[in-house]
Amino acid sequence: MARRKAELLAGGAVRIPKDFRLPFLPSRSTAGPGAGSVGVVFAFGNTRAKKPISRDAGEFELVKRGQHLAILRNGEVLIDNVELVPTLLHAPFQAFVNIDHACVLNCKFCASPRLGQNLTKELTDDKIVAMIEDASKKKDFKSVAFTSAVPESPSMTAKRMAGLVRRVRKLLPDAPIGVEPYATRPDEVDMLAEAGADEIKLNIESFDRDIFEKVCPNRDYDHILHAINHSCEVFGRNKVCSNIIFGLGETDDNVLEGTRVLANMGAVATLRALRRNEYNMAELEKALGSLEPVTAERMLTLAKEQKKILKSHKLTPLAFRTMCHTCLSCDLVPFWDV
Ligand code: SF4
Repeated sequence: MARRKAELLAGGAVRIPKDFRLPFLPSRSTAGPGAGSVGVVFAFGNTRAKKPISRDAGEFELVKRGQHLAILRNGEVLIDNVELVPTLLHAPFQAFVNIDHACVLNCKFCASPRLGQNLTKELTDDKIVAMIEDASKKKDFKSVAFTSAVPESPSMTAKRMAGLVRRVRKLLPDAPIGVEPYATRPDEVDMLAEAGADEIKLNIESFDRDIFEKVCPNRDYDHILHAINHSCEVFGRNKVCSNIIFGLGETDDNVLEGTRVLANMGAVATLRALRRNEYNMAELEKALGSLEPVTAERMLTLAKEQKKILKSHKLTPLAFRTMCHTCLSCDLVPFWDV
C-alpha cells in the first residue's frame, strides 16, 4: 500500500466524475502542500492521502465499482476500496487553522502568500476560537493546531498564536494543541509552551544551506535550528517536528543527514516531497534552475531510511497527536506507511 500511496502523492490531480456528488465540502487549504487547490482526503488500506481534485482532468480518476470507490490511473485500478474522509478544519479529525496567509518572507515553494489577499483577512481571533469551538463538538474531533504565515514580524505572529492557544486551552482543557510558527527565538518557544501548546513544528525546510538561502531568502537557518533544539528541551522528545522538503535539488544523503541532526536533538523530521503547482514552480525554477519531479521510488526510499534513523534514536511520528504526523495525508509516515 505504501507504494500506491507514494504514486498517488507523487502524481497529479484526481478527476472526480461530473455527476459524482461529494458527501461533504472539499478542503480549500491556505497552507500546506495543498494550499490553493481544492482537495479531498482519500482513505485506503490503513492510511490516507490528500489530493487536489478536478472535475475536468487529472492523472487519476475516482470511479464507482459496484458498491465501493476506486482510484484508477490510465484506466487501471491503482487503489481499490477507497473512502472519502471529511476534513474538520483542513485535516481529518483536527481543527487545524491557518491564522493568516499574508506573508513577508517570500519562501519560493509556498503558495500561501500568492493566493490573493482576502482568504484569511476576516479571521479575527474571536472568529477562530468560535470555529474551533464548533469543530470540537463534532464527533470526529481529536485535536487543534495552528499554523500561520508571517504578515508583519515573526514575534507578532508567535504572540498572536500564543494568545489563541491560551484561549483554546481554557476552552478545551484536554485537547492536544499543536503549533507551527516561524519562531526564531527561544522566548517565543517558551511563550507557546506556557500558553498550553503540547507539540510544535518548526520547519527547517532544507538542510542544504545553499538551497535554503535561495528558497527562504528572508529566514534564518541557524535561528530555526536553535529554536528546534530549544523546543526539544521545552516540549520534550517526540513533541517537536520539522519539515524537510525534498525535490529542491538536494541529495538523499543531505535529507537523511538533516533527519539525523534533528533526531539527535529529539525532533522528528517530516520528509515532504515538493508539490509542484501553478503558484510555486516559476519562482522555484528562477531560484534553483530546473527541478526534477519527485518520484514515488524516492519517497519510499527516504521514508524507509528515515524509519531506521528514528528507530535508532527511539523516536516515532506515531507519538504525535496533532499536525501532519497524525494526519497522515501528505507524506509517507514511517512506522505507519513503511
Ligand atoms: S499532512 Fe499536514 S499539511 Fe497535509 S493535510 Fe495533513 S495537516 Fe495538512
